[in-house]
Amino acid sequence: MDIRQPEANDIDFLLSVSNLFRYLAVDEVLKRLLPLARSAVDAEEVSIIIFRDDEVEWQHYMNKDEQLDDIPYLDSVLKHGLAGWVRKHREFVMIEDTETDARWWQKNYIRSVLCAPVIHQGELLAIMTLNHAEPHHFTTHHVQLIQIVTNQAAIAIYNARMFEKIQTTQNQMETVLRAFPNLMMVMDHVGRLLIVNDAMLALLDRTSYDEVIGHRLTDMPKRDKCLDDVCQILLEVISTPPLKPIENVFFEVNSELLERDFQGTISTWSSSQREVAGYVIVLSDITQIREVASFKDEMLRIAAHDLRSPLSLILGYTDMIMLETPEEATSVHTYLEAITQSSKRMDLLLEEILRVERIRHSPSELYQFISPQEVMEQATGNLQAFADKKGIQLTIYHSPIDGPSPLIKADPLLIRQAMENLINNALKYTPKGGEVHVTNRIDSANQRFHFTVVDNGIGIPSDKAKYVFESFFRVNDPAIASEQGFGLGLNLVKNVIEKHHGGVWVDSVLHSGSRFGFWLPLYQAEESP
Ligand code: ADP
Repeated sequence: MDIRQPEANDIDFLLSVSNLFRYLAVDEVLKRLLPLARSAVDAEEVSIIIFRDDEVEWQHYMNKDEQLDDIPYLDSVLKHGLAGWVRKHREFVMIEDTETDARWWQKNYIRSVLCAPVIHQGELLAIMTLNHAEPHHFTTHHVQLIQIVTNQAAIAIYNARMFEKIQTTQNQMETVLRAFPNLMMVMDHVGRLLIVNDAMLALLDRTSYDEVIGHRLTDMPKRDKCLDDVCQILLEVISTPPLKPIENVFFEVNSELLERDFQGTISTWSSSQREVAGYVIVLSDITQIREVASFKDEMLRIAAHDLRSPLSLILGYTDMIMLETPEEATSVHTYLEAITQSSKRMDLLLEEILRVERIRHSPSELYQFISPQEVMEQATGNLQAFADKKGIQLTIYHSPIDGPSPLIKADPLLIRQAMENLINNALKYTPKGGEVHVTNRIDSANQRFHFTVVDNGIGIPSDKAKYVFESFFRVNDPAIASEQGFGLGLNLVKNVIEKHHGGVWVDSVLHSGSRFGFWLPLYQAEESP
């Protein structure tokens, strides 16, 4: 038996062991560890069993002459032997003489045994067994060495499993993302690409992912101009200080190469080190949605247009029948009156539909430079009488202006109509005794004209507010149904304002009131011709 020089050898041994654990392939590490452990405690045999989900996942055995991937009689050892006992009790065991310990079930030449559970966070990951033919061979010093080794093994097995888990998740994610039909890329905080899917790779002038990953999108050759537009927007987002998580940035781009329209979104992702660790850009193909929407608009326009002539005919003939029907035939008159009312309502609806269409297609070349405040005065003047009749207090507030009156470039009739629609709604959906405030504000810093209508009326349910600007949308409520309307007024406002490069918004609390508004870009007097 060789006598070890404990101190120097122990340090060498522990150093070699910790060097081994730098690698992640656990089976390789353990195969190299076993001979080291065997010689450190001068054992005849050493074995290790690794468990996963309480099943044996891997096993290895070695003695002086051989290494095996199968431990002899493993099933029986786990059922009746010492390893089975340690698996159950999770305790380190040192048997000084197997002849006097019933846990050593195979009575053979082995007389001393060390059996160590490898435990991490309460989970039994492995069992290591070392033995010797002489009784009382192992010392407490051996026990300490093996405990250090098993502690390291526990961490190595755990890390390898975590790494495996992360890799599996990453593989799954990448497979899903690559197959994602929308164009998608993930980048870090300075715009270097981390993930790009197949659809996006097709637009970059590169054939493999290796040529793309780690490079900045801005530096990359692109096959389509639309990616230059995306870069421009991304650069603006990245360079806007301070770097904060953005809500989402939405934009639209057109790919000439693919002949598709895309709606794009830029969102941020965060990590433990950075609030904004990077950006995700998704381009969704909206070509088909656009085509369907414009087909719907066209059908609606044709239907509205073609229905008006027969409707006028019905109204005309109804009038004539009324004139020629003797006065006493009152029930006929009642029927005719009903036909006239319904036909007029239908005519009004067709008129509204056509009006929205006209706005969408109205030529902006004819817009004039006008004072938005003057337009507002005309719009409010028109509705004062209606407010008085309904018993609602209508107040108008103009923000003071220093210097020349700011101008908008617009069709005055359309803007007036947009204002009237918002005020009209506030008056319609506010009960008697309520208040409606109409205000404007000049935002000189951003060169914007803001128009706002506030009421303390019935309000809008929070989940419905986002739909109110869509055509034909009306909140399902008896108070709404009792007011005449088709759900086209706000859609008209949105169309008018967007046609003038502005934006609309709503903010409402059910049963408390609503705030509707829009903004329009302002021009300096000298910019007008
Ligand atoms: P209409 O008034 O003809 O129904 P609009 O397009 O003008 O159509 O409005 C759409 C819907 O939005 C209305 O039916 C109503 O449900 C809601 N709405 C609009 N303005 C207000 C308001 N000021 N207060 C409460 N609800 C409103």
